[in-house]
Amino acid sequence: MTTIAFVGLGNMGGPMAANLVKAGHTVLGFDLVSASCETARAAGVRIAGSGAEAVREADVVVTMLPAGKHVLAVWAEVLPATKPGALMIDSSTIDVESARKVHGMAKERSCASVDAPVSGGVAGAKAATLTFMCGGAKRDFAKAEPILARMGKRVIHCGEAGAGQAAKICNNMILGISMIGLCEAFVLAEKLGLSAQALFDVASTSSGQCWSLTNYCPVPGPVPSSPANSGYKPGFASALMWKDLKLAQEAATAAGAATPLGAAAAHIYALHNGWGEGGTDFSGIIHLIRGRSGDPPG
Ligand code: NAD
Repeated sequence: MTTIAFVGLGNMGGPMAANLVKAGHTVLGFDLVSASCETARAAGVRIAGSGAEAVREADVVVTMLPAGKHVLAVWAEVLPATKPGALMIDSSTIDVESARKVHGMAKERSCASVDAPVSGGVAGAKAATLTFMCGGAKRDFAKAEPILARMGKRVIHCGEAGAGQAAKICNNMILGISMIGLCEAFVLAEKLGLSAQALFDVASTSSGQCWSLTNYCPVPGPVPSSPANSGYKPGFASALMWKDLKLAQEAATAAGAATPLGAAAAHIYALHNGWGEGGTDFSGIIHLIRGRSGDPPG
């Protein structure tokens, strides 16, 4: 079995590291927050005193950190301590430019590297049902795949360095835009006197069908498991959707791609977060759409 270092044991990293332990690997972990370290320790992760200490004996290093600047800092810290030839995997959601930069840093140290952001959220991290979107050389992906398969149910090679991050932000731009479109439709239906259930019954079996509708329906009722039925508790937090939409906009600007709906979605989620709603599910954006729609004409 492989010795794996895991840096970043938060909401996602903690359960992902626990699944690697369950698969029989030796996992050495580190996080700046001691409570996260203790939770991971209880799941069988051996806690190291620093990131550099965690990676020293590892054949594989996984990072699961908040943003690009954290990944750049942690890889700069740990790479000099890694075994030459170790495999570096970053599963954080970060900007494409930083992702490519850390691939370059790994190459200088003769390490294999894969960017492997995920979808599936905390529930998927706990149940080992995440989807991994991977970027990197084919031979590096081949090394990463069996490790990632222990934490997820789908592992997709999207292309060269940074392609995993590109796939993640494109996918989530679709998700953000489609959720806003759905909310507009449900608010319009309310104003037209059409029940939410009737709209759902039609749209979910017609051309309006989409993943957001059938999994995260933004009104209570039609989809019992959707966060709308439990006070819009995430699920997928609005703050994370806003983060991903900002990453998509940065990438679109750098690449010269026209994404007017992506830009509008980023602005709308900025307003939602400005309302102090960053911790609610992203489907809670319906309150903002409804609030801006005004009262029906007298
Ligand atoms: P989190 O804030 O719970 O965990 C991040 C952890 O990194 C924290 O525990 C923090 O202490 C640790 N950390 C930061 N700097 C560090 C350092 N220098 N050394 C060691 N540890 C350090 O965040 P999360 O929800 O686990 O998300 C992690 C990543 O996964 C993010 O990029 C996020 O966008 C992405 N993601 C999250 C979800 C989700 O539903 N939570 C879903 C998909 C993707």
